[in-house]
Amino acid sequence: MTDRLYYDNAYLTEFDATVLEAKEENGEIFVRLDRSAFYPTSGGQPFDTGKLNGANVLDVFVDQDGEVWHKTDAAFSEGEAVHGKIDWDRRFDHMQQHAGEHMLANAAYRLLGGHTIGLHLGKDSSTIDMDLPGGRTHITLDEIHALEDDVNKNIQKNAPIKCWFPTCEELEKLPLRKPPTVKEHVRIVQIGDYEFCACGGTHPSSAGEIGLVKIISATPSRGKLRLQFVCGMRAFLAFRRRYEVLDRAAGALSTSWEGLDGQVEALLERSKNAEYLLRQERKASAVRKADQLYAEAVEANGRKIVRHVFSGIGIEGLREAGNAVIEKGGAIALFADESEKGYLLFFARSNDLDVNIGAVLSAACKKCGGKGGGRSDFAQGSAQEISVLDEALSLLE
Ligand SMILES: [Zn+2]
Repeated sequence: MTDRLYYDNAYLTEFDATVLEAKEENGEIFVRLDRSAFYPTSGGQPFDTGKLNGANVLDVFVDQDGEVWHKTDAAFSEGEAVHGKIDWDRRFDHMQQHAGEHMLANAAYRLLGGHTIGLHLGKDSSTIDMDLPGGRTHITLDEIHALEDDVNKNIQKNAPIKCWFPTCEELEKLPLRKPPTVKEHVRIVQIGDYEFCACGGTHPSSAGEIGLVKIISATPSRGKLRLQFVCGMRAFLAFRRRYEVLDRAAGALSTSWEGLDGQVEALLERSKNAEYLLRQERKASAVRKADQLYAEAVEANGRKIVRHVFSGIGIEGLREAGNAVIEKGGAIALFADESEKGYLLFFARSNDLDVNIGAVLSAACKKCGGKGGGRSDFAQGSAQEISVLDEALSLLE
């Protein structure tokens, strides 16, 4: 069994060891040592990276027999002396996230009666899933603030964090937040006098080193509450990124970040009004155009066929333009509206004509590659090619 050096000292970054076993499987190299400071993926905390002599450590994991394996990119031989060095930035980041998680889970336990059932330390943020009394899967903004306040105040009190293996008698007396999953060799992490939890992970030696904890989201997930959060440097960087984005957005609207949401609301309102007015104007202009087209159209066989391709008036505009034409009597409107997505189609006929315009649109679409249909007096559809209008015209003639 590998002596796991991080159990006693999470700050140990370099160590000397001897290779107990080295093997190659499917072109991948795995090394087992007599002692190691490398943390293997477990308990929701990802593995450490770093160097073993000149080789890069690409993965560290525990096999079914509880042995720690280092996956490396260079070969080793049994009995070889190695010098290990872990990537401290990555490790310390994991220590901050992991200890922050203990404090957040502890606050949720005390303030909301929540039981944390799973931890995932992700690349950018971490999550815990929580069982809340009554099966609640939502919490209020006030409750989120209460959790954040509690955790960050406790961080600033800088309580010591202690990890040790208690005896069975000692373990029975500890006020554990949740029962341990293993019976023997239980490692306890204690923060101040309020948090006791079984955990095999790495943590800083005092709460102050966590720096800051911020909840990013609180959402339901598979019947539980999922809290997404960042700790330490991640929380600071998240603050910096948001600060810069807010600053830029506020600058673009010539306001301060405090005035930003008000300005955005006002801007949305103005843009909604402007869009409404633009739509009204386009429709009115489409109707004027339709009147003009009708006036210019030549009557043949007792009817006037009016054909036109509009631009950006939408189906509503097409309908209004079409209605403006057919209400004059003895008219057929074959209208299209061009947009980036292709052509919207609106065909209609006056009530005094006996033409099935829905059948005309369907037939033209079938021939020219479009879709649509409707009633005998009006129909709508869409097509990629505007040849559908010529086809409809020749069907009518
Ligand atoms: Zn832990």
